Amino acid sequence: MTDAFTLFERHVNPGLAGLLRFTGLDRVESHAEGPYVWDTTGKRYLDFLGLYGTLNLGHRHPKVVEAVKRQLDRMPMSVRVLVSEPTARLAAKLAEITPEGLEMVFFGNSGAEAVEAAIKLARAHTGRPTLVTTEGGFHGKTMGALSLTPRPQYQDPAKPLLPGVRVVPYGDLKALEEAMDETVAAVIVEPVQGEGGIRVPPEGYLRGVRELTRRWGALMIADEVQTGLGRTGRLWGVEWEAVAPDLLTSAKALGGGVMPIGACVGRPEVFSVFKENPLYHSSTFGGNPLAAAAALAAIEVTLEENLPQRALEVGAYLMEGLKGLAEAFPHLIAEVRGRGLMLGVEFQDADIGALVVAELAERGVLTAFGLNNPKVVRLEPPLIIGKEHVDEALSALEESLKATEKALEGLL
Ligand SMILES: *Cc1c(COP(=O)(O)O)cnc(C)c1O
Repeated sequence: MTDAFTLFERHVNPGLAGLLRFTGLDRVESHAEGPYVWDTTGKRYLDFLGLYGTLNLGHRHPKVVEAVKRQLDRMPMSVRVLVSEPTARLAAKLAEITPEGLEMVFFGNSGAEAVEAAIKLARAHTGRPTLVTTEGGFHGKTMGALSLTPRPQYQDPAKPLLPGVRVVPYGDLKALEEAMDETVAAVIVEPVQGEGGIRVPPEGYLRGVRELTRRWGALMIADEVQTGLGRTGRLWGVEWEAVAPDLLTSAKALGGGVMPIGACVGRPEVFSVFKENPLYHSSTFGGNPLAAAAALAAIEVTLEENLPQRALEVGAYLMEGLKGLAEAFPHLIAEVRGRGLMLGVEFQDADIGALVVAELAERGVLTAFGLNNPKVVRLEPPLIIGKEHVDEALSALEESLKATEKALEGLL
């Protein structure tokens, strides 16, 4: 029987298979629990990538698995012409836990779909065409979301994109002010850029975006697909500056690491298009009962176990260790940064980062680059980890840095 890696290489994505091979990850996953994953050879990995911020609760959190099993035995899919109880309860829960004024929810199945909904709502509500996004911003790869993800490698082959998109440097309020006019429907911004390389904005940036959008009658869309649900040490990334956006997108961790789900939460006025036009936007699977049950359980666990606080504490401990390694290996590491358990290690160049990722994989620790910034390796472990897991990752990282150092010496 042909092994799954070969089938993947042949029928799914040969280029990606090549990249995985290069990092020594030409392996097939078998099962997972908590912060650990096993491949089919029985090798165990500590998951410090966490599916890019999806696995806040680790793999197969028992409360989420249980909730999904219960719903599975009852009714996994909604008929849509009757109202689904888990979906409605999840919407109410999201209204309760998101910033002031956000009361209405549109459900999709992914982050990109949440962003698509935000784009359509912003244009319908304002009647304006222009969308402002940031350099290094990542909002997904469907055509609308891709138009807000300014990276030539992703955009160019798919052109033409949505018209009316302006790109400004991240963290730069002056540049944003210059980009604003009465045609701007919305400004979309991540509270901390994820794929852009774990970039934390300067203090006051999110408040500034809020003020500028308000002044120009435009909407602020906070893309919390990666920062949401505790990752940065607050339930939502915008809480760092006590900002309430007009629209907030959530996905990744929302499904508890068990089901895919995306949500766009907003102010009632912004959703008013649905009053005259109830089917302006819809999705067959969006917010289905199975995914909604997972999300309800995920939110409950996140609040019950106070995972934002935990992200802050364990994140500080991990950050301290990373700073020590950055000091010990300044010729390899340029900077470490981040917030909560959304941390990034910027290497002196992308090739060094690639070597370190491969060395880490060999030592059983999973990490990856930012999609928009290959110099930065992000660390986004489950928020449920303890210091022992951090120690395990740090000692693997130290060994990996030593091995990389040796490999580079060999090249000189
Ligand atoms: C991952 C991500 C998306 C896209 O989510 P998908 O579920 O992959 O479509 C959008 N925005 C941000 C900030 C993300 O990190």
